[in-house]
Amino acid sequence: RVTLACTGIGVSRGIALGPAHIFRHGGRAEVSARTVEPGELEAEIVRFCGAVSQAREHFREVRAQIPADTRSEIIAFIDAHLLMLDDDALVKAPIRLMREHGYAAEWALQLQRDALVEVFDRMEDPYLRTRKDDVDHVVGQVQHHLSRGEKELGELQGSVIVSQDLMPADAILLHNRGVAAFVTEFGGPMSHTAILARSLGIPAVVGVRQATRCLRQGERLIVDSLHGVVLADPGEATVDHYGRRLDDVRHRFDALKRLVGRRAVTRDGQDVRLMTNIELPEDIEATRQAGADGVGLYRTEFLYMNREGQPDEEAHYAAYLEVVQGLDGIPVTIRTLDLGADKQLESGYVVESSVCNPALGLRAVRLCLKEPGLFRPQLRAILRVAAEGPVRLMIPMLTNLHEVRVLKQLLEETRASLERDGLPHDPNLPVGGMIEVPAAALSAGAFARELDFLSIGTNDLVQYTLAIDRVDDEVNYLYDPLHPAVLRLIRMVIEAGERTGTAVSMCGEMAGDPRFTRLLLGMGLREFSMQPGSLLEVKRMLIASDAGRLADTVREILPDLEAGSIPPGLETLCSVESLH
Ligand code: PEP
Ligand code: MG
Repeated sequence: RVTLACTGIGVSRGIALGPAHIFRHGGRAEVSARTVEPGELEAEIVRFCGAVSQAREHFREVRAQIPADTRSEIIAFIDAHLLMLDDDALVKAPIRLMREHGYAAEWALQLQRDALVEVFDRMEDPYLRTRKDDVDHVVGQVQHHLSRGEKELGELQGSVIVSQDLMPADAILLHNRGVAAFVTEFGGPMSHTAILARSLGIPAVVGVRQATRCLRQGERLIVDSLHGVVLADPGEATVDHYGRRLDDVRHRFDALKRLVGRRAVTRDGQDVRLMTNIELPEDIEATRQAGADGVGLYRTEFLYMNREGQPDEEAHYAAYLEVVQGLDGIPVTIRTLDLGADKQLESGYVVESSVCNPALGLRAVRLCLKEPGLFRPQLRAILRVAAEGPVRLMIPMLTNLHEVRVLKQLLEETRASLERDGLPHDPNLPVGGMIEVPAAALSAGAFARELDFLSIGTNDLVQYTLAIDRVDDEVNYLYDPLHPAVLRLIRMVIEAGERTGTAVSMCGEMAGDPRFTRLLLGMGLREFSMQPGSLLEVKRMLIASDAGRLADTVREILPDLEAGSIPPGLETLCSVESLH
């Protein structure tokens, strides 16, 4: 066929070329009818049984983590799920369907689920009718393991993963398998998977409708994540064109390397702190190579992914110590657990996915304060590692001062327990908070007085201010960090920092986008934290900028911002080209 071009939202800036590897059944889309070749049937049944065992393992693990004083009905729920996984209706019946019709495991399970749910639907008793939710829960677990297992099949090195959706944990696994790029049908540019792709330097295009149906297994793909384009089966001339563009990108990057040792100071002598956001061990080296002044955001939730069970205190401590020692004196800001919304775990404290608005639900500090059993090992480890190097603690998603106070109380208790245990720790650990909820931005002064530093998380601040889910590509067109309301909130936080003498940084993706460097400098921001790959580009922008003049320009546009309209001068402030 002729070259097929699909468009979506580019979430990083690279280009990749490789064969398509399609995951049809992963993610949140419905399971479609599929059969397997007769020769593959036995392997398919083994795959199904493996997924059932993993689901069983999952429920056993959840059961083991239920505190002893929990009401017995809750334990009975999990036991019921475990019993279902031993029931012929859920295990033997799908295997029979596979044998009789050659159905793939997912499809056979789906058909059996539909048959069971129909039986429940016909029941008179309303209580029994609701038990179909249990069937769905158990089937969902098995489907989940089937889709993960599928991802583990085959040689993935150098291939382009095409899937309906991708969780951050899967993105890490696939990165470790050496994949060249991601293409997904769903997802927004500020989702954690997209942020990961950027940080890992993996080209990715999201929101490519019907990608798993239009693209074919094994065909050659070009992924241009700057322009959000995926080309299938390109001709030689197109491949040559992209090859030359790849060379250009490499040359530009090499040219930036000369800035590594250069001080981050504006033309008019304003010092700026450039820091990195890290999540995986390889980011330590990238931080050193970029010559960063610190780590402004260490996302610790990745420690919880792709592992059996929860990390205990020693696992936390070992991970943080590796970072602190690897950074060799570069200060690091460890953010406490920010699970929930699009960062979910496979087992244990999973935030109920049946909640309609997970981004507004029990995530980040809310989850930690509700589950001190989950949180304490992390707090102990952070306090301990702070005795080994320059460490700060940062709390995500603060909404009110009560959370700060409760957290400080918890820290005090943790310190006391470390004292009792005779373990070294830092008694003066600086504690900061992320401003990512509009209510916190509007009360930034109060937070600034109670905390040692603030960091603006624009990824969430934009999501919550504009009421758009950052992972939903359908409303992505509304995601606008330059919305006057967002800019006013950012300005309020920076001003609160200036008034109270509290350091304010920004660690959302906006801070690493060179189009916004001049605007943010003009607004008074002096600390930027971003994925390591962006640091030198931002540095290039700021050393060519005059912060005083930019501040004058911002002052001129402020009345428009206050009035809620888009100031005409904003465009020049945000244009990268205006520098050249
Ligand atoms: C943010 O919200 O801007 C942020 C940095 O945190 P995360 O992207 O991890 O939610
Ligand atoms: Mg956030």
